[in-house]
Order: sequence, then C-alpha cells, then structure tokens
Amino acid sequence: MLDYHLHLWPHGPRPLEATLEQVAAYCAAAQAAGVAEIALTEHLFRFRQADAVLGGWWSDLDEPVLGPVMGEWWASEQGGDLDQYVEVVVAAKAAGLPVVLGLEVDHYPGRMHQVADLLAGYPFDVLLGSVHWLGAWGFDNFGQDVFAAEWDVRAIDAVWDTYTTHLEELADSGVCDVLAHPDLCKISGRRPDVPDEFHHRMAEAAARSGMAAEVSSAGWRKPVGEAYPSPALLDRFHAAGVPVTTASDAHGLGHVAERRGDLATLLAGAGYDALAAYRQRRRRTVPLESPAPSASVGLA
Ligand SMILES: [Zn+2]
Ligand SMILES: [Zn+2]
Repeated sequence: MLDYHLHLWPHGPRPLEATLEQVAAYCAAAQAAGVAEIALTEHLFRFRQADAVLGGWWSDLDEPVLGPVMGEWWASEQGGDLDQYVEVVVAAKAAGLPVVLGLEVDHYPGRMHQVADLLAGYPFDVLLGSVHWLGAWGFDNFGQDVFAAEWDVRAIDAVWDTYTTHLEELADSGVCDVLAHPDLCKISGRRPDVPDEFHHRMAEAAARSGMAAEVSSAGWRKPVGEAYPSPALLDRFHAAGVPVTTASDAHGLGHVAERRGDLATLLAGAGYDALAAYRQRRRRTVPLESPAPSASVGLA
C-alpha cells in the first residue's frame, strides 16, 4: 500500500517551512500503518515561485464576485519556497526514508505550458493533477461562504460537465502523472441523475493521456461521505486499463494513511491487485499489499 497524496501544512496562513523531522514523522506514521512508501505532494500554489508566474490568473476571467474571493484566498495560502521544500524532500530520500518528491498541480486553463516550464527544472518523482476551481469558483472550498453558496444556484449537470471538461484539458496537457480525487465534483453530495456520461469521459481522459487515477480516502471526510472515485467510476477506470495510486490527501500528520484498509477493499472489489508507484516521473507497478519493512524509520 502507498500514500501518494500528502500535504505538510493545513490550509490558511501559517509558516510554510518543510523540515526533515516532519518528513520523517510522516514516514514513521505511514510505516506504522503498513504503508510502504509515501509521496509528499504539496500544493504548487503555496509557493512564491508559483505566485510569481501564476498569481492573478483569476483576473483574466470576467468574475466580478468570485474573482476577488479567489484572490483573497490565494493570498492567504502563500508563503512557501519551492526550492526549500524540494531540498528537504530530496534530503529525506537520500537519508533512506521511504518518500518520493511530488507536487499537487492545479489546472490553469491556457497556462499549463507556464506550469510545465516552472516545474521543468525540479527533480519531481510524481505530479498530481487536480481540478479545484471552475473559473474563479473554488467549488471544494466550503470555508468560503461565497464559494459554498454557489452550490445552491448552479445546475448540477452543468457543474459536472464543466468539471469534466477541465479534467479532460488537464489530462490532455500532459503535464501531470496522476489524476487526483478524479470525481471531486461530487464533493457536496449532489450528483446528476445519470453520471455515466461524465464517468465515461473521465475514464477516457485518463486512458488516452496515460495517467493513473488516484483512489483517495479524503472523500469520506467530506459532505459526500464516499471515497474518490465512486465504485462505478473505479470500475470504468479498471475496464479502461487505467492504473491507480492510493492516497489519504492528509493535510497533517493525523490523517496519514487514513482508511488504508477500506481503500484496499474498494480496489479489490474493482479487480485491482497492483498500484502505480513513481520515480522521476516514470511509472512502475507494485503489489497492492506489500509487507511493511520491519525496521523502524528514523534519521539515525
Ligand atoms: Zn486536491
Ligand atoms: Zn491535496
């Protein structure tokens, strides 16, 4: 088992400095839960290098209400140094900790070439691709009242259609390796009567791009109360030959490897017996359940 989606920091203003001790603690927590390897995948937007290139993307849109909210929220998330984050994770790897270097990358419509240029100089092992925003609407951000209220005024089929189009564009950009929380559009618990067409498009996008899909326990912590993806979408991924990773999407030590056993059950039910792992953005296949190393993880 792997946990290939981990954040070092909760959302909101705070010091954003990675430390080797923190990475070691994540590895120890994962190992104690029987997780053989983790990927640290901090949000790209938390780093000033991303702000310099991508900050203000919402200003391109004609979104007089949502745009300023996005701008305020973006500003509240800033403060990290991508070079420092990379240095610490690379050092942890070099010290023998079971960790790989990743990043969670958003879809920036029309700007993915800038994202690719920004990331090209770094030794990433795996890049997650995510859709968290539809235009300037941070649809998964229930902490912002203006964003949360949008769910009451938009038609659910249109939300899913727009989300799926963004996911297709993200996959076709070729910038990332894994589709994170693939059906995040279900987060509020509202779904189209017939989601099949959207599931079909999501599975096709993953298959044609060569991306893996993430199977994440984070959805169990959200209003929808269901893992990402749904069993129906996971079946489609399996039928389309799409490899999968497993993930908690923890934003703190307490959620590392959360519900790993439930994820294993979900995967077995869909017919998966292997996971995708990554080194230097190359995929390899590992057994779904591998024995945890007996030695404890430390920095000594
Ligand atoms: Zn995410
Ligand atoms: Zn995440």
